[in-house]
Amino acid sequence: MAKRDYYEVLEISKNASADEIKKAYRKIAIKYHPDKNPDDPTAEDKFKEAAEAYEILSDPDKRARYDRFGHQGVNGAGGGAGHMNMDDIFSQFGDIFGGGGSPFESFFGGGRSGGRRVRKGSNLRIKLKLDLEEVANGVEKKIKVKRYIACNTCGGNGSKNGASLQTCSSCQGSGQVKKVVNTMLGQMVSTSTCPTCDGEGRRVTQKCDTCHGEGRELREEVIAINVPAGVADGMQLSMSGKGNVPERGGVAGDLLIQIEEEPHPVLKRDGNNIVYDQYISFVDATLGSTVEVPTIEGKVKIKIDPGTQGGKILRLRGKGIKDLNGYGKGDQLIHINVWTPKNVTNEERQILERLRTSDNFIPHPGKHEKGFFEKMKEYFQ
Ligand SMILES: [Zn+2]
Ligand SMILES: [Zn+2]
Repeated sequence: MAKRDYYEVLEISKNASADEIKKAYRKIAIKYHPDKNPDDPTAEDKFKEAAEAYEILSDPDKRARYDRFGHQGVNGAGGGAGHMNMDDIFSQFGDIFGGGGSPFESFFGGGRSGGRRVRKGSNLRIKLKLDLEEVANGVEKKIKVKRYIACNTCGGNGSKNGASLQTCSSCQGSGQVKKVVNTMLGQMVSTSTCPTCDGEGRRVTQKCDTCHGEGRELREEVIAINVPAGVADGMQLSMSGKGNVPERGGVAGDLLIQIEEEPHPVLKRDGNNIVYDQYISFVDATLGSTVEVPTIEGKVKIKIDPGTQGGKILRLRGKGIKDLNGYGKGDQLIHINVWTPKNVTNEERQILERLRTSDNFIPHPGKHEKGFFEKMKEYFQ
């Protein structure tokens, strides 16, 4: 199923403010919350779709990338619809509905997260070098990444045998402490992260032997990155949940992949087009010829018509780069340069001297000879 536009999902306009986005998401989240719609199997999908849209549009960086590059710009690296799990989604709610004891929780009779903050691990950043062929057609790259994953022995909670845990006595396991504050408007309850357990809600009494209580281990992993065709230097792809797992459980951060384009020795990129400089002798330019031209799909023979002028641009349709947003494919443009010899032998000089005054060799630019500006116009069509 094609992914829906995030603005459409949240039923807002492209220039909605942060506040409007938040309000729209709150409305949809309440409407489609799975607990409220046990008989509607599509509710959870709609709920997740809205959460994903909110995750992107509520982050100015991600929103800007989405506006520019569409879905590919924010989760081109394999992340399909519904890549957020329920923990991710519930961790958003603190932001949406305010701290602990949120209206959302009371609305649904206690949230699934039980008030405990879901911690997110750090993001991993890598650079990914791609050559022009890979950029043109897209590629699956397998790369080795060192990342923190949950410890196998304790299951990630850091305790011996995974069971030596004690509920934090300061917060009774909620991970949050409430404070009653007197204000002008009367008493207000404020909640903050429990300082004793740092919001974890529990404490490790005996540490796991493998991870020494950290709940995670550094492992080398091979990750397959699906790079869409048409990416450009400096662009960033992200893979949700492929970053580091935090200490003692939580949601993994993201893997952020920065694209680095390696220049091709002879083919130059210009947007989705590829530009190639072809040099021909003035004999070939005069009499016509066939030349072999490199393209990203291999060599292609092209015909040089008799009487070809230097500066002519030939176009190989569809031999360029696939558009990132699926708007077709660029072309390869072949810029014809006529090679003028720097050195000539005596014999060559004699032949050329005879041609110098020959009428056909004297320039007679006519109407059909396009000047520099016409050519540029043609090129940018
Ligand atoms: Zn462990
Ligand atoms: Zn605590």
